[in-house]
Amino acid sequence: MKNLVNNLSSVKDFLLNLIFPKECLGCGQEGRYLCQLCQSKILLNQKNYCAFCHKESSLSKICQLCQKESPLLNIWVAADYNNEILQSLIHNLKYKYIEESSQSLAGLIISYLEKNKIFSLLAINRSNAVMVPVPLHKKRYLERGFNQSFLLAKEISDFYKIEIGQLLRRRVNTISQVNLKRNERQANIQNAFVFQEDKLIDKNKKIILIDDVITTGSTLNECAKVLAKSGFKEIYGLAIAQRDD
Ligand SMILES: [Zn+2]
Ligand SMILES: [Zn+2]
Repeated sequence: MKNLVNNLSSVKDFLLNLIFPKECLGCGQEGRYLCQLCQSKILLNQKNYCAFCHKESSLSKICQLCQKESPLLNIWVAADYNNEILQSLIHNLKYKYIEESSQSLAGLIISYLEKNKIFSLLAINRSNAVMVPVPLHKKRYLERGFNQSFLLAKEISDFYKIEIGQLLRRRVNTISQVNLKRNERQANIQNAFVFQEDKLIDKNKKIILIDDVITTGSTLNECAKVLAKSGFKEIYGLAIAQRDD
């Protein structure tokens, strides 16, 4: 069965490639959506800071002051958003179903995690952690056909062999956070998520919430609050990039 699925997906790739030949998003060279040279131009995030207030902090730990407002312990941001190639990849991930973009973007996240030895320093592994993608509302999911955060989580989960738990459901189809001010964002996302019990997932597991791009961090924070209220104690956030407010 798995072979059949693999064959079908390579048939799909073959047909797509006939209609839309693959071109590098960065330089236009044919063959791949991102050539190696352009991939190397996307810089991994060099800074370690609290994603809420941007104060420097080791391992991007949420600072003490911000922890008063958030159960998140750390938020890791893999790459610098100010890069055109990265932005096109993210656009492709969100608005076109191009699996290769999720592979490249998850690759960046994995490189970031490995370079900073984050999972080993915090003893996060397959036996004690679960990855939770930020969910889309059902309506948006049906329009889009996929959840980009789930696609990222799947790639990262394949690499680390950490299971995925779909522990959240988005009950409100919130308007996009993009054009909202900081306080409006918080109000917009408040109570948007509910806990979805999975009896197989122990509450002592470390949670790694996965989102594509974060801005103020209020979506991750809202998800973390729901999980904390449901009994999870160790909650982290992980995203490709952080856009300026
Ligand atoms: Zn290129
Ligand atoms: Zn802070």
